Amino acid sequence: MRPTVIAGNWKMNMDLAESRDLVGGILKGIGSIPASTVVIICPPFTSLQLSSELIRGTQLRLGAQHMSHLDGGAYTGEISARMLLGIGCKYVIIGHSERRQYYSESDALVKARTHKALQNGLTPIVCVGETLAQRESGETTTVITTQIRGGLDGLSPEQAAGIIVAYEPVWAIGTGKTASPDQAQEVHKDIRKLLVTMFGEESAAKTVIQYGGSVKEDNAVQLLAQPDIDGALVGGACLKAESFLSIARSATT
Ligand code: PEP
Repeated sequence: MRPTVIAGNWKMNMDLAESRDLVGGILKGIGSIPASTVVIICPPFTSLQLSSELIRGTQLRLGAQHMSHLDGGAYTGEISARMLLGIGCKYVIIGHSERRQYYSESDALVKARTHKALQNGLTPIVCVGETLAQRESGETTTVITTQIRGGLDGLSPEQAAGIIVAYEPVWAIGTGKTASPDQAQEVHKDIRKLLVTMFGEESAAKTVIQYGGSVKEDNAVQLLAQPDIDGALVGGACLKAESFLSIARSATT
């Protein structure tokens, strides 16, 4: 049985005061989420310390939005896995389409960061997804296959079982357009089949595959009801405590 994993990607939003309010709001309602659902917040680096203190002892978990594939040294602006771990992160988003698009994050970098996260005891949330042009030209499967093969290359079946893959069609991120539950399930099923060929049945059956792309209170129930959709990576709707909590509750209704 795979857990349901709901993660909120705050992106470059929320100063300290806003972060305090948002975490406080989520904590007020977190008791209504069953323990079988893992709820993660991924604030910007500047709010990690505060968030870590606020969520201590609760069922809310902390993740980062990015990390370096290097251990440390003269890399201005970068953050290492060890630093994230030390501040209380358990998860890290890797290869988000915005990082791939604006910061040239390649599959090779995604691979290096995924391995580095696992070596340090962090759970990577590895994002994959096709653009609208790629979908329209029938390249969805090829794109996803390339990203998954490239990003997860060299993992052991045990490691692959413990990661989270987030399928996020680029055309659905922040656009208000969502993949239909059937469209999303089709890709999720293909991803799981690919994981079977790479890591075996037992491993692939354990890998959590999240859907991301304009997940909201009104579409979450149907998306999360799909057999291969094990959770959601939420952008815009995670910036309001009530909508994030409502999405997290959707898995159980
Ligand atoms: C995201 O950035 O991962 C995302 C899914 O954003 P949104 O929910 O706003 O589409």
